[in-house]
Amino acid sequence: MRPLRHPYAHLLANGTADAYRSTLGAGVDLVAARVAGTDRPFTGMDPQRLAVQVQDVDLRAPLGAAAAVLDELRDLYLRDAVWFHHPRYLAHLNCPVVIPALLGEVVLSAVNSSMDTWDQSAGATLIERRLIDWTAGRVGLGQHADGVFTSGGTQSNVQALFLAREQAGPGRKRILTSEAGHFSVQKAAKLLGLGADAVITVPTDARRRMSVDALKAALHSCADRGDAVMAVVATAGTTDFGTIDPLPAIADLCEAFGTWLHVDAAYGCGLLASPTRRHLLEGIERADSVTVDYHKSFFQPVSSSALLVRDGATLRHATFHADYLNPKRMAEASIPNQVDKSLQTTRRFDALKLWMTLRIMGADAIGELFDEVVDRATETYDLLAEDPRFEVVTRSDLSTVVFRYLPTGAGHPHADAANLHAREALAASGEAVIASTTIDGRHFLKVTLLNPLTARSDIEHVVELIATHAAELVNRRTAAVSA
Ligand SMILES: *Cc1c(COP(=O)(O)O)cnc(C)c1O
Repeated sequence: MRPLRHPYAHLLANGTADAYRSTLGAGVDLVAARVAGTDRPFTGMDPQRLAVQVQDVDLRAPLGAAAAVLDELRDLYLRDAVWFHHPRYLAHLNCPVVIPALLGEVVLSAVNSSMDTWDQSAGATLIERRLIDWTAGRVGLGQHADGVFTSGGTQSNVQALFLAREQAGPGRKRILTSEAGHFSVQKAAKLLGLGADAVITVPTDARRRMSVDALKAALHSCADRGDAVMAVVATAGTTDFGTIDPLPAIADLCEAFGTWLHVDAAYGCGLLASPTRRHLLEGIERADSVTVDYHKSFFQPVSSSALLVRDGATLRHATFHADYLNPKRMAEASIPNQVDKSLQTTRRFDALKLWMTLRIMGADAIGELFDEVVDRATETYDLLAEDPRFEVVTRSDLSTVVFRYLPTGAGHPHADAANLHAREALAASGEAVIASTTIDGRHFLKVTLLNPLTARSDIEHVVELIATHAAELVNRRTAAVSA
């Protein structure tokens, strides 16, 4: 390539190949060194203290050299980042990422293709389409299936409900989902301009799965009122409990009532690659639309997600033609413009990360990694169920465990305070990061296992730390009462 004489040539991705190599190399070296030296998932850094450091940076005075800025970044970000690859990061639905996907990330951001039109993406569009077909094939959606990559499960759910609304019959629009469904369903309803009461939450059974009897009753009462149930949203892997709604029975009801079935498999989609647990998703092939989040259970960096639909023609509800971008004649000439199917316009080539992963590691390897974390969650459940200091809620189909520390004594005095304290004390120490949730107004702790390197000994260590922190608070309270 002809060398650029522009004074900022070294800053431009197409400026010089050498600057590209050495600048990115320095970034990679910095992260690699930090990753190698991670002894805890978090430093326990206080947000106010870190905010002062970030505020102190003078944005009018650039440092010029990348090396100096990377140095600064070490203190502003990397030192106190929350490290998902650490075996004692057990909090939310964040996965450690596989290196083939990172390789894809480097390539896609430098080439900077945009997925809206063929003339901004070329082969990238074909690769995305191939992976949509691959995923739809794993789901079993049939030969008319289609879909599009999205920014995340939230966007996939919004688009699914938008399509469902456009397909729905007359009457006041209703969405049925379980009380353990994801909050993006409520958000979507609001964005779609539906009333505040549009989402009807269906009760769950003892395992926190949508109750089929309650769903049936809700469908009947909507029909009696003349309301149009525009969609039933079943969850394949609830965020809190990792349980999978009874998909075959829900699909039967949707068929009987002529209702759009959306399956939110943002979390459970990892089972699509599992060599041993794919059967847990049985019934998903009968959905009208499916949300998958590769950045939750395929070990992909954020963002990597998709919406799939049984009938590709329904995606037309998102199609608008602009003379400056995707005129109708392009569609008539079968030019593949993904913007015709997407809520976004300019869009990342996130599919490349999954492509590199499948081509380097293969789908079975991803499924085996996911199986490992599911096995580890089963062990964690057993460990806590046998430990008299703890109460567990329900066995997960996936990789979460919801539990709480139970102080001895009638009514378990200070249980809520003890569990809250344990989580905060753990985060402040940086020894481990866990999450929490409430059930019937009581505070519970939650771990989500997505790191295949988390060993049983890590879990045992964290359980002891939780018990110690919780007991410490109970002892302090009890001492205060008797003093
Ligand atoms: C995480 C999650 C979502 C939202 O996905 P994002 O990628 O975070 O937008 C939706 N549904 C379920 C069940 C989830 O667990």
